[in-house]
Amino acid sequence: MCFTGTLTERHGDRVERIPVPSRLADWFIANGLDVVACSEADLDRARELREAVHVCGTAAARGEPLPPEAREVINMASINGSASALLTTEGGLGWQLGPGGPVAGALGVVALSAIGIISGARDGRLALCASPTCRAAFFDTSRSRTRKWCDMNTCGNREKKARFLANRRSAGGSSRDT
Ligand SMILES: [Zn+2]
Repeated sequence: MCFTGTLTERHGDRVERIPVPSRLADWFIANGLDVVACSEADLDRARELREAVHVCGTAAARGEPLPPEAREVINMASINGSASALLTTEGGLGWQLGPGGPVAGALGVVALSAIGIISGARDGRLALCASPTCRAAFFDTSRSRTRKWCDMNTCGNREKKARFLANRRSAGGSSRDT
């Protein structure tokens, strides 16, 4: 689900975190998916899947039916991906990306993860970011299930700062009135 976070501020000044194919490869590597290189076409497919996950995740978080086209994109990525789940030496979850090509395999893993979350098969709460300029769907696995922002470092911090400034302004205003 954190793949949808590679595009933030969807309702404000959009921030694209995978602007070029090499950044997509970086994202895969950082997430334990062994993809050495990506093409422009891979990037297009990845972004299409990302937006489909965003659309379906948003619908699911609102309790609305999933838009069929977006659902189809996720399902096709899952079908085309041929990755095998492995146990790593540390006993964690790893992936061997199959003969369909590493990028197809990696996108299949992303689709599988999204399906687990959107279907409710995985333990957590699907929610929408409280920031009005973001509204990203995110997966809340905190113990209390009360997370408000997709990312504490971006949306959470900005929101805190805005509230602080608003409080200071209203405090200043009232002191002028008295
Ligand atoms: Zn957000």
